[in-house]
Amino acid sequence: MDTEVLIVGGGPTGLMLANQLGRRGVRAVIIDRHSGPAQQTRAMAVHARTLEIYSKLGIAERALELGRRGNAANMWVEGKWAARIPLGEIGKSVSPFPFVLILGQDDNERIMGEHLRNWRMAVQWSTELTGLSQEPGQVTATLKQPDGSTRRIQAAYVAGCDGGHSAVRELCGITFPGAPYEQVFFVADTEATGPMVPDELNVYLWRDGFHLFFPMRGKDRWRVIGILPKALRGRDDVRFEELSPGIRQEAGADLVFKECSWFSTYRIHHRAAEKFRDRRCFLLGDAAHVHSPMGGQGMNTGLQDAYNLAWKLALVVKGRAGAGLLDSYEAERLPVARRLLSTTDRAFVAVVSESWLAKLFRTRILAKILAFAMTFERPKRLAFRTLSQTGIAYRDSPLSKMLPGLPDGAPRAVDRFPWLQLKLRENGPVEDLYQKLDDTRFNLIVIGQPAPATGAIALGDLLRTHVIPGDPANDRELARARISGPAFYLLRPDGHVGLAGTRFETDAVNAYLADMVTPSAVHDLAVA
Ligand SMILES: Cc1cc2nc3c(=O)[nH]c(=O)nc-3n(C[C@H](O)[C@H](O)[C@H](O)COP(=O)(O)OP(=O)(O)OC[C@H]3O[C@@H](n4cnc5c(N)ncnc54)[C@H](O)[C@@H]3O)c2cc1C
Repeated sequence: MDTEVLIVGGGPTGLMLANQLGRRGVRAVIIDRHSGPAQQTRAMAVHARTLEIYSKLGIAERALELGRRGNAANMWVEGKWAARIPLGEIGKSVSPFPFVLILGQDDNERIMGEHLRNWRMAVQWSTELTGLSQEPGQVTATLKQPDGSTRRIQAAYVAGCDGGHSAVRELCGITFPGAPYEQVFFVADTEATGPMVPDELNVYLWRDGFHLFFPMRGKDRWRVIGILPKALRGRDDVRFEELSPGIRQEAGADLVFKECSWFSTYRIHHRAAEKFRDRRCFLLGDAAHVHSPMGGQGMNTGLQDAYNLAWKLALVVKGRAGAGLLDSYEAERLPVARRLLSTTDRAFVAVVSESWLAKLFRTRILAKILAFAMTFERPKRLAFRTLSQTGIAYRDSPLSKMLPGLPDGAPRAVDRFPWLQLKLRENGPVEDLYQKLDDTRFNLIVIGQPAPATGAIALGDLLRTHVIPGDPANDRELARARISGPAFYLLRPDGHVGLAGTRFETDAVNAYLADMVTPSAVHDLAVA
């Protein structure tokens, strides 16, 4: 076998997967058919859940240094300011990163690409996957090399992180149902002054569509995204100068574009692969799902596909879990992609539809509903949790199990365990629980009861136990998460709750692990 995992595609998804495998000691080869990293910024929004993952990977600081924090989104209707969604304020009890980080995809790729050196890995550029054949126990991949010659390599698994036109998907014969949107998007990196609220997202709704202004690094730098007016569709030589008068007309004469450093138009599809796996080949990121850029979810979703698959693949290729664990990747991520497709589709249709009713809704009703909703705690939190992807839960996952007795509202199996500030030692300081979780292992959180005896749980060195001592400050913080009385949470490496209950039950925990990883693997783990 030449490699445990062949990662096809050195975009954000492939880079995240390579990093997550590398830090877990898995040999992976990562290839990309391009001659070097992408120069275009494309995705701009890095959401809270991604930053939490970056933090565990050790690259959050660098991302924060390079990016700009968008603390709120402002809604403008027909040129008039209408509402502000205060992301920072809403999210501050939900995540250590209560904002949208505006950081170009190229910067994200550079940070993750440089980080690969820590695991002695690097993208093999100008190397294209052209063929795949699956045999029992391995996949043979045919690669076209920089000098035009071909070579074959054997991998235990192949990860298709190769974008919307995925060769892995096509070679596996997996269909990609969906359709293109009839609208054509444009994207422009500009220097502009005007009524936009600095350092915040600005969403402009018109009768005929919308424009988004994202603050970029540097003075008066704005990324503008919108839809080409009908009259300009079908041409591939459109210049930003042909659009800017229309945007100014809508936003008011105060808006001045001084420069446009990059302009591009593109068509968007909304599609999800019929399945995310064919035997030893997996699909992740845009290879598995593409959708409208409403909400800036695409890149973030791909990164989280990679985070979901990485810990499972690592355990399986190291022989520490049975291959059945890999089935949960599709079971968990396909519903996320389908939901995303339907929500972004609905949002997209609402902001681009040309029916008179939709125009009325956009300009007279939408901003009012949003402004009103943002005066209430619940919709505010829901908005933050949805946008930031911290609210993703794997409801129908085969890896989730709830024991009876936990109060309503307490974290459930498959939720991302909430971000809490707790005293982790008696009379110790209040600490950030997330900093203490080890995402290369399972984490057991034990509340209001003693830790289980050493060795009682069949996970060997794959387990970290955190006993939360009784303390009034802890009680208050736990009450915020609706946890009262004794409880335990067995977290998977990706921070989602696997098993939850009240009184710790060694047998139930071991039975859960035996279901999740094969009995022989549990034995391996126990003796590891
Ligand atoms: C204008 C625009 C704005 C966007 N804004 C946002 C945003 O704000 N937020 C957000 O989250 N998302 C956004 N997106 C979506 C985001 O860009 C994508 O979701 C993201 O690039 C997906 O990453 P990926 O790694 O899965 O695929 P890609 O970035 O497409 O990377 C795939 C890689 O695979 C390589 N490859 C392809 N075929 C082969 C082969 N046969 N062999 C070897 N290598 C191969 C390609 O060269 C490429 O480098 C935007 C997209 C666009 C176009």
